[in-house]
Amino acid sequence: MQVRVLDDVCQGHTLCATSAPKLFGLSEEDGHAIVLLAEVPPELENDARRAALGCPEQAIQIF
Ligand code: SF4
Repeated sequence: MQVRVLDDVCQGHTLCATSAPKLFGLSEEDGHAIVLLAEVPPELENDARRAALGCPEQAIQIF
């Protein structure tokens, strides 16, 4: 599984970085989410799915 954040859609709500801190951080420049692990390890796949479902902007894509 891979994950990415659509930077032009992300509004920096921080929910993803709070719920899945191993996968998402926040840019010091604009507060938008950044992906820490583009290749999601199996034990974090549920965290990635949860973060994608919980993003109010639907800015997180998993594939
Ligand atoms: S939850 Fe969505 S909008 Fe909020 S920081 Fe994460 S990717 Fe961006």
